[in-house]
Amino acid sequence: MRLPIAGCGGSKIRMHIMIIFLKCLFFIFSHSSTDLFLNFVTTKSKSKSRPSKKQRALEILSILKRLYPDATCSLDYVTTVQLLVATILSAQCTDERVNKVTPALFAKFPDAPSLAGADREELENLIRSTGFYRNKAKNIQGACHKIVTEFDNKVPQTMSELLQLPGVARKTANVVLAHGYGILEGVTVDTHVKRISKRLGLTKNDNPLKIERDLMRVLPQPDWENYSIRIIYHGRAVCKARKPNCDKCQLALLCPSVKAEG
Ligand code: SF4
Repeated sequence: MRLPIAGCGGSKIRMHIMIIFLKCLFFIFSHSSTDLFLNFVTTKSKSKSRPSKKQRALEILSILKRLYPDATCSLDYVTTVQLLVATILSAQCTDERVNKVTPALFAKFPDAPSLAGADREELENLIRSTGFYRNKAKNIQGACHKIVTEFDNKVPQTMSELLQLPGVARKTANVVLAHGYGILEGVTVDTHVKRISKRLGLTKNDNPLKIERDLMRVLPQPDWENYSIRIIYHGRAVCKARKPNCDKCQLALLCPSVKAEG
């Protein structure tokens, strides 16, 4: 009697086992690849449905425009020199405080020549309540002297020239260019813009220059100053430094910090 395993019957059984093995392999492979494929498609479609930073920035901008339709520079001034001086004074100080100081200041020293030639102590006393008054007085006089002697008594209209004036960095230059001349060279990054843009996930940076560069990438140029002005309004009204009022915030659905901050 022959044992089936050793002969022709044995090879049939081996072939049968081989077929079952191959079927198992095919089953495992086809299912795992299907899963991988489905996973890939799902991830792709998920990432497609999530708005990009640029799309979010545009939505934020459009909500801000609706919320603060009449937003404008809150500093009081008549001439571009006065705008420049008020902006220098607004460093580390509220616009409200600056507006309390400038009427008396501009009544006494209305233009660049009179500010450049003012008695330093008198000037310091007039601006004392805005803080850092010694430094601010020195910068105002230095800037006005340069405007008179090197720029034909006119506030320069380019970023590079403005940056040559004492006490003028990009923030002040952006304000002067935008509100004094309607020129949009960059995004004004003050303390509100810095804090809220970070909370909104439009930048991860702390350096104002890098924040400005990030915002310029996601916002349309005509809205660079619009964004800053309205964010400043939003910072004063809702997204305050210490206690942001996320419950009342119209940007909450677009804000990745809503839970952490609220
Ligand atoms: S949701 Fe909260 S953290 Fe975000 S912008 Fe609004 S107030 Fe600020």
